[in-house]
Amino acid sequence: MRPLLLSSAVLVALAACSSQEPAMPTDASAPDAAAAAPAELVVYTSRNEQLVKPLFDRYTEETGIKVTYLTDKAPPLMERLKAEGSRTPADVFITVDAGNLWQAANLDLLQPIESPVLEANIPDNLQDPDNRWFGLSVRARTIIHNPTRAPADTLSTYEALAGPEWKGRLCLRTSGAVYNQSLVATMMATLGAEETERVVRGWVDNLATAPMANDNAVIEAIAAGRCDVGITNTYYLGRALKQDAELPVTVFWPNQADGGRGVHVNVSGAGVVKHSDQPDAAQAFIEWLSGGTAQELFAGENLEYPANPGIPMADLIKGWGEYRADLINVSQAGAMQAEAVKLMDRAGYR
Ligand code: FE
Repeated sequence: MRPLLLSSAVLVALAACSSQEPAMPTDASAPDAAAAAPAELVVYTSRNEQLVKPLFDRYTEETGIKVTYLTDKAPPLMERLKAEGSRTPADVFITVDAGNLWQAANLDLLQPIESPVLEANIPDNLQDPDNRWFGLSVRARTIIHNPTRAPADTLSTYEALAGPEWKGRLCLRTSGAVYNQSLVATMMATLGAEETERVVRGWVDNLATAPMANDNAVIEAIAAGRCDVGITNTYYLGRALKQDAELPVTVFWPNQADGGRGVHVNVSGAGVVKHSDQPDAAQAFIEWLSGGTAQELFAGENLEYPANPGIPMADLIKGWGEYRADLINVSQAGAMQAEAVKLMDRAGYR
């Protein structure tokens, strides 16, 4: 377990005047707005600084509210929130994967919020049924393939990758990755444990190499011809294609046939910290993150899909076409995560 980071020096203050842009002049037509608003919000987030900083800067520009943030991996941030309890300076928690969000809610670190704005902006299956967190971006975990060595008409479903025709041709990231735990957890919720275990065993039998440390390694292996097919989040492929548009790797949308459950999607999302002393301001910030400006920045920067269906997706990912997503509530991923980990272990998936 990682030690808690207790130094407040890691809190990076982000006043508008400290960004590279010159400070915006205060809007003289709204002299009292700033007085009523809080001066500062504190965000704990496991998202990359590179991704969230432009968003937070934009919020400061628009509202005058300073956003101070602390970045770390999700588990130590949750440990920290737990340890700080009612003394926490944090107002908002932002992380990736419904498995982590579910965990935060389950540890009673978040508070339920009533928000007509969030209910309108974020589809039901992408939010906590008890409104303790809301998805802000959608991450599709799909099949990727070399279209020459594994043509699209030879692909159909995640389950079919367990078939003998894929022997020695599949690359997967390790089962330790929460993304794979969530994928398998939602499969268990739909297919049941027995069928899911059969599928996972089939995948393991078909591996071209030992499971890989990250999604990028899977993409590289397919590009290099070490395997023909894999399962990754699409934004990693988007980034790789931004570097090299000729990469012989593309997206396949599985489980699209009638009655099929659709592409496995997960979210990044946010919730109001249970012991925030300014929950209204924290909620207003999350509402802003679910709207136009922020959704486009989020999706554009990281090539994820906006969680708000009213917002257009980035051009690069538009080229992969539309897909039907699995509508199972993503919180299932958290609820069944421990079972999924055990199942993968039984199936020999390392
Ligand atoms: Fe990721």
